[in-house]
Amino acid sequence: MKRLVSGIKPTGSLTLGNYIGALRQFVKLQDDLLDTEMFIFIADLHAITTPQDKAQLKKNIKSIAALYIACGLDPDKVNLFIQSEIPHHAELGYVMESTAYVGEMERMTQYKDKKHKQTQGIRTSLLTYPALMAADILLYDADIVPIGDDQKQHLELTRTLAARFNQMYGDTFVVPEAFYPKTGARIKSLTEPEKKMEKSALNPKSYILLLDDINTAKNKIRSAVTDSEAIIRYDVKEKPGISNLMTIFASLSDVSIKDIEEQYKDSDYKTFKEDLATLVGHTLEPIQARYHALMKDPSLDQTLDLGRERARLIAMRKMAKVYKRLGLGRQK
Ligand code: ATP
Ligand code: MG
Repeated sequence: MKRLVSGIKPTGSLTLGNYIGALRQFVKLQDDLLDTEMFIFIADLHAITTPQDKAQLKKNIKSIAALYIACGLDPDKVNLFIQSEIPHHAELGYVMESTAYVGEMERMTQYKDKKHKQTQGIRTSLLTYPALMAADILLYDADIVPIGDDQKQHLELTRTLAARFNQMYGDTFVVPEAFYPKTGARIKSLTEPEKKMEKSALNPKSYILLLDDINTAKNKIRSAVTDSEAIIRYDVKEKPGISNLMTIFASLSDVSIKDIEEQYKDSDYKTFKEDLATLVGHTLEPIQARYHALMKDPSLDQTLDLGRERARLIAMRKMAKVYKRLGLGRQK
């Protein structure tokens, strides 16, 4: 049996970008990859690399777990758990810090981007984030790691660290493969389409939340930044705004970009945006209905307990092996 691992930080509520780039892919994979066991976690330890409001963080953790299931993740097929409830993530994170070089961390573009957004001191863990991410993956001997472009560099580093550790201390970790979803790998901000849509962004108009009021979500599509050419044509460089909306349309409808161009060749932005707004509404409505039902259901906690126990068993064994390889403690 192969293993797939992936996580999402509870730094905000989930966006349409997270849905298209991550959640929806997981749902597809759980049905397609029958020989693969899935470990999906809420990466709350990663969230505290930047300041968080405690009450909000607590709320996000549970809310995101419910959203995963509301988006179609089957708790019987997938091990869903919360990262901080398994101490071995932090333990192996430290070992990975002791495997990586400072220069490697400093080269990560996500660190360079995110550090500029900090108004208070930059936390050390923002720099060492990829070590914890490597740990998340290597603990479970993941064969497959589905990621968006934004995580490419981190996954490359994970592979480097796994190979380095194996070479220094003997075969311990599986070197994981990245898995890139085909369409909609990266959804852009609705207000600054050169940038990625991010749940931790400051401007709420830049993203659509899966839990946004349906009318609010539609309005965000209607007011999304485009250009003055008024032709529905896919050109990421010259027309990033409309291209992004086309990507969203294609991802949610399974109509190809080419067919969208054809279908709207005599149309205008207003019509296209209106159709997209409707499509977004139809996507969010059933997710929200399932979400609200789940938040009242005690089975959510049971799912998270079961996921934790299954994951913990594997993590514990791996960690014992790692300490032994390193010569730590008294284990023979
Ligand atoms: P943050 O602002 O805290 O970084 P985020 O929205 O970027 O939040 P992450 O927790 O960093 O979300 O990423 C969760 C998952 O969602 C990852 O698999 C990532 O590749 C994917 N993802 C994030 N943003 C997008 C996006 N705009 N388009 C497609 N996939 C995305
Ligand atoms: Mg991110």
